[in-house]
Amino acid sequence: MQSLQQLLDLDRLHVWHPYAAMPNLLPVFPVESAQGVRIQLMDGRSLIDGVSSWWTCIHGYNHPRLTQAAHAQIDRMSHVMFGGLTHQPAVDLTAKLIAMTPTELQHVFFCDSGSVAVEVAMKMAIQYWYNRGLPQKQHFLTIRNGYHGDTFAAMSVCDPVNGMHHLFRNILSQQYFAEAPQVTFDRDWQERDIDSFAALLVAHHDRIAAAIFEPVVQNAGGMRFYHPEYVRQAKALCEQYNVLLILDEIATGFGRTGKLFACEHAAVCPDFLCVGKALSGGFMSLAATLTTREVSESFAAGKAGVFMHGPTFMANPLACAVSLENLALLESYDWQSTIRAIETQLKTELEPCRSLAAVKDVRVLGAIGVVELHDPANMQAIQPRFVEEGVWLRPFGRLIYTMPPYIIQPSELTAITSAIYKIVARI
Ligand SMILES: *Cc1c(COP(=O)(O)O)cnc(C)c1O
Repeated sequence: MQSLQQLLDLDRLHVWHPYAAMPNLLPVFPVESAQGVRIQLMDGRSLIDGVSSWWTCIHGYNHPRLTQAAHAQIDRMSHVMFGGLTHQPAVDLTAKLIAMTPTELQHVFFCDSGSVAVEVAMKMAIQYWYNRGLPQKQHFLTIRNGYHGDTFAAMSVCDPVNGMHHLFRNILSQQYFAEAPQVTFDRDWQERDIDSFAALLVAHHDRIAAAIFEPVVQNAGGMRFYHPEYVRQAKALCEQYNVLLILDEIATGFGRTGKLFACEHAAVCPDFLCVGKALSGGFMSLAATLTTREVSESFAAGKAGVFMHGPTFMANPLACAVSLENLALLESYDWQSTIRAIETQLKTELEPCRSLAAVKDVRVLGAIGVVELHDPANMQAIQPRFVEEGVWLRPFGRLIYTMPPYIIQPSELTAITSAIYKIVARI
């Protein structure tokens, strides 16, 4: 059998990791298995997962109900193509998503990743205006500090600095970037926060197919919580200027911010809603773009007729079956109280970080806790320190954050917050 060292050597020399170079000089920790909120490393250590495997496994690893749903589906079929065929898991999951989201959202397009869900929404928005005889509406309005994925169209609406647009400037579509909202979630709303967004819309709406942003919480672009009134006003402006609205809830969807969807903080229904990440409970890669009758029905009447997009693994039955069970599981308990309890505990236990010299801000919303530093942390040095403390976190830039599984116990959450305090205190 291969030794642990051989595995690590092969990995470092040949396996590309996210946001890494080759050969990979950043530490990677080999995983043996995972159960509940714990990741079991091959060297025998066990870590409490404070990031839910990039915000996906909201009910932890190997949840018996999800595992059971997967087994049952595998025994029937793990996959079948979706062109010309359909199946119960896809239809049932569609019905569930339609029931959970704002009423106007009636049509669901499944794909395998969040980035593609964003691509699909952007393509549909352009084709909608083509169908309506306005083919010049091909650009997008977004806000700085956003993150929408790593494929080209998605990347074109990511923050230009974080997204390294200069590298791809000749191939990326030019989009419109409003200033990032400044009024935070719990402050008093100030009208001028929407000015930049409004000005771009007034000047360029003839060329803009849709506005796209993450409602209320900007995630990978900075872990920023902003005022729901911004979302409300953006929606009203979009309607006024004949521009569609794409809300990217790939990170915020399914309870994370304390509402089922973050757009509910603003009581706004978008023309497109993108979901992914927690959809399958972290079990499989599945994402979806939901849209309205108004948008979808323009396609039948349009010159092009169909929507030219169809992933090979579209609506994979195994992923749909597990996702359906994950959403049924979410609905089976009082998740609102669970998120509120996590929020209260995070607020209490992260607050002491505020007085640490390295800390610029501490903020909590729903099951998201953020400690923002004055200066970018050396991630290479910090990550192993968290591992030594028995917790799995993945800080980036100036941000140390936790988005734990909803099933986390108070003592386990305390292990995470005390590790954050201890390590930030040493910076
Ligand atoms: C993660 C994320 C994406 C991209 O999803 P992938 O599945 O990684 O392609 C898009 N938008 C938001 C808000 C995300 O958090």
